[in-house]
Amino acid sequence: MFRSNKWIGEETLTSQCEHVSCGSKEKVWMTYHYQGRERGLKPHPYCAECGLIKNLSSEKPRKIGFYINIITSLKEDFRMAQAQIRLMALDMEKLDFEDDYSMDRHQQEELFIEIVQKYSKVPDWALRRFF
Ligand SMILES: [Zn+2]
Repeated sequence: MFRSNKWIGEETLTSQCEHVSCGSKEKVWMTYHYQGRERGLKPHPYCAECGLIKNLSSEKPRKIGFYINIITSLKEDFRMAQAQIRLMALDMEKLDFEDDYSMDRHQQEELFIEIVQKYSKVPDWALRRFF
């Protein structure tokens, strides 16, 4: 059965699901995004287990390590402590950051900036130049 989509930031995102796609006849029509912009309607498959709608972006998410490297390279300049970096890494893990079923690269980048700025004063430009 189809349950509602899960949105970033909801506690429920922490659930670990293997994601099993629904049958091809059961897709839901939704807008899809490319480079952060809406590109019209497309039938989206969803997970029969948890109801998560599959992200159809061609830009697959990066590994958490890519983002940790960015933070580490900024550590000195913005005087971040190891403890801050650990909190950021934890947040990324909690949000299923590498889940390519729900996450695309653009969403990942926006979320990454949000997480970094939650624990530090690193400005947008300092982060975006890595993308
Ligand atoms: Zn699932």
